[in-house]
Amino acid sequence: MSQTTVPSPAVTNRAQLLAELVSLEAVDLVVIGGGASGLGVALDARLRGLSVLLLESHDFAGGTSSRATKLVHGGVRYLAQGNIGLVREALHERRALLNNAPHLAQPLAFIMPAYRPWEVPFYGIGLKMYDALAGAASLGKTRWLGKSSTLAQLPGVNAQHLYGGVKYWDGQFDDARLALTLARTAAAQGALLVNYCPAVDILHEDGRICGVRWKDGLAASDQPLEGQVRARCVINATGVWVDALRQLDDAARGQRVRPMVAPSQGVHLVVDRSFLPSDHALLVPHTRDGRVLFAVPWLGHVILGTTDTPRDHVEREPHALAEEAAFILRESAHVLARAPQAADVRSVWVGLRPLVRPDADAGSTKSISREHTVRVSPSGLVTVTGGKWTTYRAMAEDVLQHCVQAGLLNPLPKCQTARFALLGAPDRQQPWPSLGASPGLQCYGTEAAAVQALPGADIELGLGLTEAMVRYAARYEYAQTVADVLARRHRMLFLDATLAAQVAPRVSAILQQEIRSDGNLDAFLALAAQYKRVPT
Ligand SMILES: Cc1cc2nc3c(=O)[nH]c(=O)nc-3n(C[C@H](O)[C@H](O)[C@H](O)COP(=O)(O)OP(=O)(O)OC[C@H]3O[C@@H](n4cnc5c(N)ncnc54)[C@H](O)[C@@H]3O)c2cc1C
Repeated sequence: MSQTTVPSPAVTNRAQLLAELVSLEAVDLVVIGGGASGLGVALDARLRGLSVLLLESHDFAGGTSSRATKLVHGGVRYLAQGNIGLVREALHERRALLNNAPHLAQPLAFIMPAYRPWEVPFYGIGLKMYDALAGAASLGKTRWLGKSSTLAQLPGVNAQHLYGGVKYWDGQFDDARLALTLARTAAAQGALLVNYCPAVDILHEDGRICGVRWKDGLAASDQPLEGQVRARCVINATGVWVDALRQLDDAARGQRVRPMVAPSQGVHLVVDRSFLPSDHALLVPHTRDGRVLFAVPWLGHVILGTTDTPRDHVEREPHALAEEAAFILRESAHVLARAPQAADVRSVWVGLRPLVRPDADAGSTKSISREHTVRVSPSGLVTVTGGKWTTYRAMAEDVLQHCVQAGLLNPLPKCQTARFALLGAPDRQQPWPSLGASPGLQCYGTEAAAVQALPGADIELGLGLTEAMVRYAARYEYAQTVADVLARRHRMLFLDATLAAQVAPRVSAILQQEIRSDGNLDAFLALAAQYKRVPT
C-alpha cells in the first residue's frame, strides 16, 4: 500500500537558532525589525543571493504589522486626496500579494451604502477611476447598486433612508500570518531570522556602520547571552521605533537626530458576524466628522474601525481612548441595522502607524505622508518607515536600490519577489476557503497536512485552534509565548479575548511540553484583559 508522505517543514528550535547566531561572524545584510518592512527586505535580499540576518526584539509582527485593518488595498481615500501614484502602485502590489499567497490574501468585495441620492454617482465615478488605475490588476468591476440589491448583498446594513450603494473590489489578508510566512520563506531560502533578539547597539568603524550588537531577549538574567555580527549594510526597519536606532547611530557622531516618525493610533473593535452576515465588507467613505469607517468580515467575525489619533509616545501595547471606541460604535450604529454596544465587543486592539513627518511639524497626522521613506545616514544606516502592508514588497525593492545607490552593496541581480510564491501557497487556480470564514486549517495552505500529522489534530481548543496547531507553532513557527500562539499564529486574541484567556492555560501546558516554558501565561492573561476592555 502506498503511503502519503507529509513534507517536513524546517524546525525553529530556539537553541539551534541562537547557536547559529553565536557562530555567525559576518553577513552582507542585517535587518533590524521583523514587521512587514523588515521581512520584505530580508526575503528580497536573500533571493538576490545576499547573506541575511534579521533580528526582531519581540515576535515577528509583534508591533504594528499584526494590527492592520487587514485590507490589501490601493487606498480609496488616497485617491480622494489625489495621490494617484501611491494608489496605482498599491493596486499593482495588491495583485502581486494576492497571487503570491492566495491562502493568506484574497479579493474582497466592498459596498459603500448611499444614504443621499448624489452619493451613488459621486462615489461610483471615483471608484470607476480606482478600477481604471488598476488596469490589468483589477479584481472586478465597480457596480452601482439599487436599494434592494444593496440590502440583498449586504444583510445587516441599515435600510432606513438607504438609496442604494456602490460595489467595488479590494483585498483582505491575515497580517500576522503573512509576516510569519515571509519569515519562514526567507529562512527556507537560507536567511537567519531570530525573534526575541533585539539589536542593542550599532557598531561603527572609521565613522561607518560595520555591524550590530544583539542580545537574547529571553535569556535568564543570571545567564545573559549577547554577541555581535559584522555587516556590509544595516537596515533599520523598526516601525514606530526607528528613531531610537537612528539616535544610537547619530550618538556615535556626537549628534542628536530629529525624529522622523509621528505615530498615529488606530483602534479596531471586533464583534460577532451576526452584525454583518455578509461576504462583503462595508465602507463609510465620509463619517459625520469626515473620516472613513470599515466593517470587514474576517475569520468569522466583523472588524469595525479605525481611528487616526496622533500619539506622542510609543507603547508596545497601546490603549484605546474612550472617544475612539465611542466614535466607532456611534458611526457603526448609523450604518448597521443592529447597533453594536460596548458589551457586544469581543476584542479591542490598537496599532500605531509609523507616519513620516514632513520636515516642518504638521500637527494633525491626517496630512502626514502615507508613503514610505528611505533615508541613508552619513554613517550608512538605512532607515525605512511609513508606507503600508500592501506595498511591503515594493518598499523592500526600493530599500535595496537605495543600498546599492549609496555604495553599501554592489549592484544586485534582478528582484525576484513580484512572482515568488510564499511558503504554503496553493495553486492559484485552486479555489480556497475565504478569509471571511471561521479560522481553521486553510491558513496553512499546502502545509495543512504537516499540521494534521501532529498529535492533537482532533482536539479543538476553540475557534478552529487545535492542539496540533499549538505544537506546530512551537516546532516550526518560532512561537515562544502564549501570546505568539493566541495573538499571531492563530488570531484568537484579536477575535475573542475572553475565549483566548480561557484556552491560554492549555496552550501554556502544551508549550511547556514542547519548549519547556510556560510561555509567559500571566502576561498573556493581563493582555487578554486589556483586549477585552472597551474604554468608557
Ligand atoms: C490601525 C492601522 C491599520 C492599518 N491598516 C492597514 C491595512 O488595512 N492595509 C495596509 O496595507 N496597511 C495597513 N496599515 C499599515 C501597516 O500595518 C504598517 O505600515 C506596517 O505594518 C508597518 O510595518 P513595519 O515593519 O514598518 O513596522 P512594525 O510592524 O512595527 O515592525 C517593526 C518591528 O521592529 C521591532 N523592533 C523595534 N526595535 C527593535 C530593535 N532594537 N531590535 C530588533 N527589533 C526591533 C518591533 O518589535 C517590530 O516588530 C495599518 C496600520 C495601522 C496602525
